[in-house]
Amino acid sequence: MKFIGDQIAIGNIPVTELAAEYGTPTYVYDEQKIRANYRRAYQAFAKHYPDFKMFYAVKCCNNPAIVNIMRQEGAGADCASVNEILLAKSVGLSGENVMFSGNFLSDSDIRQGLESGVIFNLDDISILPRLLKFGTPEMLSFRVNPGYGKSNVGEYVTNAGPGAKFGIHPDQVMDAYRMAKAAGIKRFGAHMMTGSCITDADYFPFVTGLLMDIIGKVAKELQIDFEFIDLGGGLGIPYKPGEPALDLEKAAEKTAEVFRKKTAEYGMKPPQLKMEPARFFVGNAGYLIGTVHSIKDSYSRIIGTDIGMNVLARPAMYGSYHHIYVNGKESHPRTKLGLCGQLCENTDFWVKERDLPADIAEGDLIVVENAGAYGFGMSYQYNGRLRAAEVLVNGDKSMLIRDREQFEDMIRHTHVPEYLKK
Ligand SMILES: *Cc1c(COP(=O)(O)O)cnc(C)c1O
Repeated sequence: MKFIGDQIAIGNIPVTELAAEYGTPTYVYDEQKIRANYRRAYQAFAKHYPDFKMFYAVKCCNNPAIVNIMRQEGAGADCASVNEILLAKSVGLSGENVMFSGNFLSDSDIRQGLESGVIFNLDDISILPRLLKFGTPEMLSFRVNPGYGKSNVGEYVTNAGPGAKFGIHPDQVMDAYRMAKAAGIKRFGAHMMTGSCITDADYFPFVTGLLMDIIGKVAKELQIDFEFIDLGGGLGIPYKPGEPALDLEKAAEKTAEVFRKKTAEYGMKPPQLKMEPARFFVGNAGYLIGTVHSIKDSYSRIIGTDIGMNVLARPAMYGSYHHIYVNGKESHPRTKLGLCGQLCENTDFWVKERDLPADIAEGDLIVVENAGAYGFGMSYQYNGRLRAAEVLVNGDKSMLIRDREQFEDMIRHTHVPEYLKK
């Protein structure tokens, strides 16, 4: 995003043009920025540990165009469900380029995961005997809960430690691998995903140390040569203006250092290092363009836009901050205003008080920053306010990558029994 005078542009295209062509609300992704983010993260780690591969966690922004960009950059896919595996397959990713990190799997999830030949990061020891009923995978990984997790955006996305539903308790990890080895599984990896949006560089080497102390003992006692260790995602981005960014170089260097030290300490043959970030690639490369439709002066002044909590769920769902710009008015005198969507829910009053241009008016375009991660993917159709369009921008070019939903999409797949029509 940049300013051309007081006009906001994404890539080289003014948001006024994007709004005129595609309408609002619309998610807009900057392809060049996604690629640059990926390369920065990849190079930071690969520089210190060349046997390194990244998997894009598809749930973060699941548009196939975006997943294709990640594939072209060299990423595999990390999938949370069978449908995400199918999505990965549809863009040409399969086998060991796909990780299945779903949790609390059904028998059908397990069966289809096995049939698709992807690598399971099994979230619990109890799933192993169920999986073995359907087949013996060539390679297996377990998701370990190393006892500690963290997040910058509230406890909702802290994914490890005693309060989390994810991963295997450290005390059960040895048994899990022992059981897998006894079942004839030959190749092994290990996985963790302990938190999301972390900008503290020291966190990554710290949790890596925790995981490696658990896995190192398993490697030693069970004589397992781990082929890979997957440190999960969690590379954070700043959401608030002035918030410090993650020192990626430091995180990568220190993590690689701990990784080497621990593999040596436990006499492990150096495994491939894997990570599966997502927010870091697409978060700050995605924007949400909306329109101010109506302004109410009541107990306070409330600005009503077409960006409701159904379009961007994060603020209402876990109190996340998203910075908001008003096109053409950013340098105008400011005042504290509220901002809401059009849903019949008071949680849709998602900005209670924010410094915004005092002369914000009906028809103005607003741009929500850092909307690329967990934006569209978490959106829904409540109140008949349907899902937004998605647009990809590459320099001077823009391309529609998902149609705006229509009425037909709202009633598709519903059935009215004949007698109810009488
Ligand atoms: C969501 C998720 C990720 C990506 O997390 P980010 O914080 O966006 O990097 C990685 N791995 C797993 C298993 C996930 O569920």
